[in-house]
Amino acid sequence: MNPRQTERIRPPLPEGPFLVVGMGRSGQAVTRMLVAAGEEVRGCDAGEPVGASDLVSEGVEVSLSNQSEDLLEGIATVVKSPGVPGGSPLISAALARSIEVTGELELAWRSLPNRFCAVTGTNGKTTVAEMIGHIHRVAGVPVEVAGNVGKPVASLVGRADPQATVVCECSSFQLEDSSEFSPEVAVLLNLSPDHLDRHGSMEEYLGAKLKIFANQVSGDSAVVNSRDRLLGEVEVPGDAEEIGFCGPGDGPSLRSVGCDAEVRKGWIIWRGEDVVEAADLPLLGEHNLSNAAAATAASAACGIELDQVADGLRSFEGVAHRLELVGEAQGVRFVNDSKATNVAAASAAIASFPSGVRVILGGSLKDEPFEPLLEAVLERCTGCYLVGEAAMALESALASARDRGVEVVTSGDFEEAVERASDAALEGEVVLLAPACASFDLFEDFEQRGDRFKDLVARRIGA
Ligand code: ADP
Repeated sequence: MNPRQTERIRPPLPEGPFLVVGMGRSGQAVTRMLVAAGEEVRGCDAGEPVGASDLVSEGVEVSLSNQSEDLLEGIATVVKSPGVPGGSPLISAALARSIEVTGELELAWRSLPNRFCAVTGTNGKTTVAEMIGHIHRVAGVPVEVAGNVGKPVASLVGRADPQATVVCECSSFQLEDSSEFSPEVAVLLNLSPDHLDRHGSMEEYLGAKLKIFANQVSGDSAVVNSRDRLLGEVEVPGDAEEIGFCGPGDGPSLRSVGCDAEVRKGWIIWRGEDVVEAADLPLLGEHNLSNAAAATAASAACGIELDQVADGLRSFEGVAHRLELVGEAQGVRFVNDSKATNVAAASAAIASFPSGVRVILGGSLKDEPFEPLLEAVLERCTGCYLVGEAAMALESALASARDRGVEVVTSGDFEEAVERASDAALEGEVVLLAPACASFDLFEDFEQRGDRFKDLVARRIGA
């Protein structure tokens, strides 16, 4: 893709009046975007999200703690926020009345003239989106990083430089609600079970992820992980050119496209050309080499020169709460990976260290078995410190690790778990927060959990 290529034609916005269901960050942003476009908009939310009532003073009718079907009167289009399940009563009622249901990503994309580089996958979306954004910045190419990273795409409308590439992190929920969304470059990082409570099955979850490619046209790029076990047989929809990337490992490419970007003999390689030595990347963890290969492929597809990709990868320091080194004392490293909210991410985090890992696991329960953690735990852990709603399920999944000498301790609260892990850690070991669970039983979100960990570590080591 030429970075200065002209924009693709967008479909118009659907008919108003609009009802935005879910008034969190993206709901508020899309409401403002629609108001600025002269559309009639109402908003509603089952709760009272921070900032939602500010819209009232801006002249928007907002119904908080209200999900009544009366809200649908006179509405032509519902904008469903990613946090609102597709089967919720208000959405079902809208569909039953043949009201169009769409999402913020779709409407924002239709309203922006920019080229898009969209990133999805179960794990690594934020890291890779920020990595690609950083590579663009280092190369001096205008860029905006938005989407699920926390800055809604709708907030760019009317503000972003039209020449900027929008690097957009797309969750499965955002993709589920999109219809015509068509990014010039799209990346599918990996697939493992997550959010099945919302998607119902792996097929549906994969189906949502694949929508990222569905409307791509000839000349676009579809970047896919060629080594992901669950993606090997998957057919990529749409008309883009497929580009394969491969993380470290000796396994064969599972997709016929092979490995355009790969990690081999300690180097990130793009189509046979050495880009950067893996040892020069500041990030911990082999999975981050896979992420770097994906970012290399996407950046090359966006027209960034390889030496600039190398400069970007060498200077990318990572994102908070993702395998973040937060302190070191008496030879013990303390690492915060609070964003490891599923088993695959926690396994990758544990596998980032050769041995001596004391991992804090647990949080709220979802429909995901914990047994797949065992391999990494048996290979690398000296201790597992369990907390929260998932502690019992983890304890039974890790019983054989305990039998084989790994210390497995259930703690009454998070603070105690951190303390037990830290007390037990010997020189050369790592105290790792990688919970394999969401945080909603004990914390507002993973950021609050990670910040609490950082505070506890700072207090302990006097940083
Ligand atoms: P997402 O935005 O998809 O949630 P993040 O970049 O925020 O991804 O990372 C989420 C979690 O997944 C973190 O614990 C991180 O260490 C881990 N992770 C990042 N990249 C990968 C990967 N390629 N494979 C497995 N785990 C990963």
